[in-house]
Amino acid sequence: MARSNVPRWSRSSGADVPEPARLTVLSGPSGVGKGTVVTALARRVPELWVSVSVTTRFPRPGEIDGVNYRFVDDARFDAMIAAAEFLEYATYGQHRYGTPRKPVEEKLAAGVPALLEIDLQGARQVRAVMPDVFCVFLTPPSWDELVSRLTGRGTEPPEIAAARLERARLELAAEPEFDAVVVNESVQQACDELVKLLHLRP
Ligand code: 5GP
Repeated sequence: MARSNVPRWSRSSGADVPEPARLTVLSGPSGVGKGTVVTALARRVPELWVSVSVTTRFPRPGEIDGVNYRFVDDARFDAMIAAAEFLEYATYGQHRYGTPRKPVEEKLAAGVPALLEIDLQGARQVRAVMPDVFCVFLTPPSWDELVSRLTGRGTEPPEIAAARLERARLELAAEPEFDAVVVNESVQQACDELVKLLHLRP
């Protein structure tokens, strides 16, 4: 199910046809399945470019440097902040995450639709500097479903999973800030809705 909070075309110049969204932010609580949905979406829509974030956290099993994230140490992250290399960055748990600015600007200048999969703080920062960004909130079908996904994936120690759940509770309250909401009932249904919402050609 997709809900539009504010139709995109109501914020534009008065045209009655929605414009293609060029920069999209996909956000939502940890554990909701953003990464899985984005991977499936990118496979289905080759024209869509997905930003690779920089993080100070360690890779999980199977994650590849430069593909899932660019894994850096704190000193490198600090240097990137000092050089204004981030479009946005935020601390999540004990680690920092940021979106490199230059590749996003290059893709947008080339007319390539771009997607950022980032947390709520990042979404707010991007909105502040790029008010035309289209922000989509991915939400779980229910609270119980989110709890079982977060605690069941087993990639975090229990205390980290508990902290992420507490944070997820706060993040869910931010849903009305977003332009559209997609309920992640299944990867395929969430992808179908994103393809439509972003006016992509699958
Ligand atoms: P994880 O450690 O599970 O990969 O990511 C933790 C959280 O950080 C997720 O909510 C994810 O969307 C968010 N995240 C990933 N990359 C970025 C980024 O570049 N900026 C921000 N603000 N959040 C990010």
